[in-house]
Amino acid sequence: MRALIDDLLDGLHDIVGATHVLTRDTAGGTDLGAWENDWRRRTQGHALAVVQPASAGEVAAVVGLCAAHQGATGLSIVVQGGNTGLVVGSTPDSSGRQIVLSLRRMQAVRAIDGANLTVTVEAGCVLQTLQDAAMEAGYLFPLSLAAEGSCTIGGNLGTNAGGTQVVRYGNTRDLCLGLEVVTAQGRIWHGLSGLRKDNTGYDLRNLMIGSEGTLGIITAATLKLVPLPAAQLTAWAAVPSLDAALALLALAQRRLSAGLTGFEVMGQFALSLVARHYPQPTVPLYQATPWCVLLENSDHESEAHARAQFESLLEAALEQGCVTDAVVAENLGQARKLWQIRENIPLAQAQEGLNVKHDISIPISRIPEFVRATDALLQQAIPGVRLVNFGHLGDGNLHYNVQAPDGVDGKVFLAQHEDAINTLVFDSVSRFDGSISAEHGVGSLKVDKLGQHKSPVALDMMRAVKRALDPTNLLNPGRVVRM
Ligand SMILES: Cc1cc2nc3c(=O)[nH]c(=O)nc-3n(C[C@H](O)[C@H](O)[C@H](O)COP(=O)(O)OP(=O)(O)OC[C@H]3O[C@@H](n4cnc5c(N)ncnc54)[C@H](O)[C@@H]3O)c2cc1C
Repeated sequence: MRALIDDLLDGLHDIVGATHVLTRDTAGGTDLGAWENDWRRRTQGHALAVVQPASAGEVAAVVGLCAAHQGATGLSIVVQGGNTGLVVGSTPDSSGRQIVLSLRRMQAVRAIDGANLTVTVEAGCVLQTLQDAAMEAGYLFPLSLAAEGSCTIGGNLGTNAGGTQVVRYGNTRDLCLGLEVVTAQGRIWHGLSGLRKDNTGYDLRNLMIGSEGTLGIITAATLKLVPLPAAQLTAWAAVPSLDAALALLALAQRRLSAGLTGFEVMGQFALSLVARHYPQPTVPLYQATPWCVLLENSDHESEAHARAQFESLLEAALEQGCVTDAVVAENLGQARKLWQIRENIPLAQAQEGLNVKHDISIPISRIPEFVRATDALLQQAIPGVRLVNFGHLGDGNLHYNVQAPDGVDGKVFLAQHEDAINTLVFDSVSRFDGSISAEHGVGSLKVDKLGQHKSPVALDMMRAVKRALDPTNLLNPGRVVRM
């Protein structure tokens, strides 16, 4: 076996260069942790090697070589971008038989086509780098999430990431026109089309997006741009209930129409954790209200127009009683601070201790009822449990997280209750016709739960697709769907 592995490593050196194949020996004996551990530190993997190609051609050659060695060695490939995923999809298992294929060296923004409103970018490009490049050229790339300083376009496409602007611009899928993909056989599909209309058969692009590296390796993408708005204003509103938050959403959709580019809800306990662990910037208005909402208005006319629209919306909302107090950011600096508070919620929650996370979606109209019913069931099952509830209300997507009662150790809490909490929450999600994964994906963390909550027909079709495109289960085995 050692001779076969050495032969494989020699081949990988020849393809990408010895310095771009990391093993325990080459990485100074130990630290592959950045590639082997997931972002939440839920798992500790053990890679055979971390391979870092620099082009689609190199990716294809690496896959071809791994495919040739798969039968004799039992190896497989785990595709990795920024490794910020939250469902343990991009890190190796503990077998020592998985190659981590990291796309991070493929970072180029290849071309911006202003007339076509598109950008072509390599998969390892960090999202924020792409946002900055688009802005420099006078455009907006409207995908935004708290991990944007580290996550990559390949990972965003692999997970069909959502984030804070989906209410206006859609998920990553809605922003993608074309892909370049390396198949499980090591062939390159040159699908970097910038076309908005192309009905020439099965939609292979959409099959790849959201497949979490199980069907092919995305090496580049052609993505949509939008003209930069003249102004983006942010407001923070206290609302007396989730029903009131929905009334505010409906009002904002009517008054701002396509200008509504963000609508986030945050529960009082979630904000109290931010105030405790990240006291700066100061969290406004949260002490006297169960929920706060963060709204963004993007305007293509002027800042004055955006402000007048926002003020009139909030006045109407105050009159109707769906808002009890509100502030509008005076400038970009203030707006950034409000968004920072929202983005600090997951970090504050991690500081507070281990918790059971859920990324769920429910038809928007049923969210208040879902939260009331599920909160009550949880309190009944584990009295004193604390609910960290926040999310993209405009998309029907909640991060419905469950923290241990005050004073109870997070590790002990998880060991005793995690399975029961997941079952309770996911059963409730199913009763409300929701999804157990709204934007984070399935990875290995939810693969078994998916088996219980997706229809057998859908699961059979998913397996058939996987078998057709990756018959030897070379790419990300054990993720998304069990074979
Ligand atoms: C603080 C924080 C906030 C977050 N907020 C959000 C949010 O608001 N919305 C949201 O949707 N997610 C969010 N996430 C989750 C995460 O950032 C996204 O899933 C992101 O899209 C992952 O990108 P990545 O490059 O880190 O991918 P990785 O974590 O490296 O990989 C994720 C998955 O994509 C696959 N993959 C990676 N690259 C490729 C490729 N080139 N081709 C094919 N498959 C590939 C991997 O195999 C894996 O299955 C957040 C994460 C953190 C840590």
